[in-house]
Amino acid sequence: MDLGIAGRRALVCASSKGLGRACALALAAEGVHVTVTARGAEALAATARQIRERCGVEVGEVVGDITTPQGRADALRAAGPIDILVTNAGGPPPGDFRDWSRDDWMRALDANMLTPIELIKASVDGMIERGFGRIVNITSAAVKAPIDVLGLSNGARSGLTGFVAGLARKTVRHNVTINNLLPGPFATDRLSAVAQAQAAAAGVSTAEILARRAADNPAGRVGDPAEFGAACAFLCSASAGFVSGQNLVLDGGAYPGVL
Ligand code: NAD
Repeated sequence: MDLGIAGRRALVCASSKGLGRACALALAAEGVHVTVTARGAEALAATARQIRERCGVEVGEVVGDITTPQGRADALRAAGPIDILVTNAGGPPPGDFRDWSRDDWMRALDANMLTPIELIKASVDGMIERGFGRIVNITSAAVKAPIDVLGLSNGARSGLTGFVAGLARKTVRHNVTINNLLPGPFATDRLSAVAQAQAAAAGVSTAEILARRAADNPAGRVGDPAEFGAACAFLCSASAGFVSGQNLVLDGGAYPGVL
């Protein structure tokens, strides 16, 4: 299937590893020129090189913290006018809500609610003027089925989800869609870090927690980041202009509800 986005320009945030990287790769495989960002220069350069070699598209690299005004300004400046925005940042740490201060909450809100909103604010009007835009926010399956130790994530991402639900209905008339992708367990560094915390709390090994995560999933495994990238590329495709304001759960069927 030709997704009809070859030659488009995308900013994919927090994309040296994991799900962001998978989204950048999937878009680049469709001929999209991508700007990738991360805090660590080394991993980012390696990812940018792989994308260039595999896909032959232009790849911009921006080292910086996307949760800061400077990091966002640098990323947006380097990317230029964009047709596709994939928002992403590291998830907040797991823990017990009794231990979290107001500063902890503000950091989580900054990273997982206000950063995507600021990036959308900076790019959506240009997309509307040009008559094409695809915005995908990487959130979490925890928005629909909260995970107890991830209270900071549950709270901050729910705020973003509510905001997007309103805006996505205003932009779609201009062929600018905004959707959220909700990952369940995917084989990334983040999954290992959360499993490590759960293992410490339960007094078992991290390997055991990861094995349980796979066995408990209806698919009998965790997700491959490439599967996540493919869903992102579809939501960014020319044919997906009638899909807006949706929350697509990618979790192997783990969410038990009908809707
Ligand atoms: P990851 O740790 O594998 O990769 C995160 C990427 O983001 C890395 O490239 C890192 O350098 C970059 N990054 C992190 N913080 C950044 C910042 N402030 N500025 C710039 N770059 C930054 O994580 P992942 O598994 O790909 O997760 C991506 C998002 O999806 C996270 O918010 C995570 O909480 C969420 N999520 C992941 C899973 C999962 O199973 N992997 C499940 C639910 C939600």
